[in-house]
Amino acid sequence: MNRAKRLWFVALAIALALIACDRDKDAAAPPPSNSVAAGAPPKEPLKLPPDDAPPPIVDGDRAMQYVKEIVKLGPRPLGSANHKKVEDYITSHLKGDEVEDDSFTADTPEGKFPVRNIVAKYPGTKDGVIIIASHYDTNYPLRNTSYVGANDGASSSGLLLELANHLRGKQRDGYSIWLVWDDAEEAIKPDGSGGLPNEMPFSEDSLYGITHLAEKWQADGTLKKVKAFILTDMIGDADLNVEKDTNSTPWLQEVVSEASKRLGYQSHFFGRQMEVGDDHLPFVKRGVPSVDFIDFNYGYNNVFWHTPQDTVDKISPQSLQIVGGVVLETVRILDKMDPVPPK
Ligand SMILES: [Zn+2]
Repeated sequence: MNRAKRLWFVALAIALALIACDRDKDAAAPPPSNSVAAGAPPKEPLKLPPDDAPPPIVDGDRAMQYVKEIVKLGPRPLGSANHKKVEDYITSHLKGDEVEDDSFTADTPEGKFPVRNIVAKYPGTKDGVIIIASHYDTNYPLRNTSYVGANDGASSSGLLLELANHLRGKQRDGYSIWLVWDDAEEAIKPDGSGGLPNEMPFSEDSLYGITHLAEKWQADGTLKKVKAFILTDMIGDADLNVEKDTNSTPWLQEVVSEASKRLGYQSHFFGRQMEVGDDHLPFVKRGVPSVDFIDFNYGYNNVFWHTPQDTVDKISPQSLQIVGGVVLETVRILDKMDPVPPK
């Protein structure tokens, strides 16, 4: 995860008041009415299909085991031997799956680096693709510390390996699902928030892997098939509170919100609103409906983020299970939406 702009001022207070207000409204009146500002065109309420199937169950303990094993490899910044080890670790768990390798050389402020995105594809019966993504590299400026990114990079990458177990060998009655372990998400220079002379704005020096993939898929026409881009990042915190990110697509957040309610996990979602700069931006920019599952309050005031304290003892199998379940339920609702709304 790179950076988030916090909206800790009047907007937040208003947003929280509105969220609280919305919840009261939901409790009072089952079909939520989409009230609109005077003069704005009335918005069609999003109709979400019911789902009678048993709730998807993700094995949080097995996901946690993957997280621990990734962390055990040590810091995995771009260009390191450990980075190669984690690439091998991920691909070794995808044997027999259809895997697309997207390897290229990134030109960064610290020189050229090999970058590798790993894409595992699970075909469905419907025409279209849902992407579930996680970056797996660790922060480059912290490469000479003990920083292992247990939450930032490993938690979501381990969860995706467990989602692969869930998807493997089953006939999907829905869209194809592509799991993406993207690389070089982290900034190479310090990200411009500390005011130091060698820093760079994060927008000019990050998201190398996922940007390459979005550009490639735009050029070859693949992007048109992508119905939704679901990003997971920093989702292992035992105190799980997924943000309502203002860069994400509102209708897709409505689907996530409904999915969380269906599983009884709504208290972990969307209690705070902020703008998050993350791997979804290249897809947002290209008009793909996108949502970021991120908890950007890791320890009070996010104190563990990008520090050597981002260690496995802060991660909980239950948080992995909650996020995994809500991701799969979101996919299941999307599977029944045809066509899905545009961004
Ligand atoms: Zn990060």
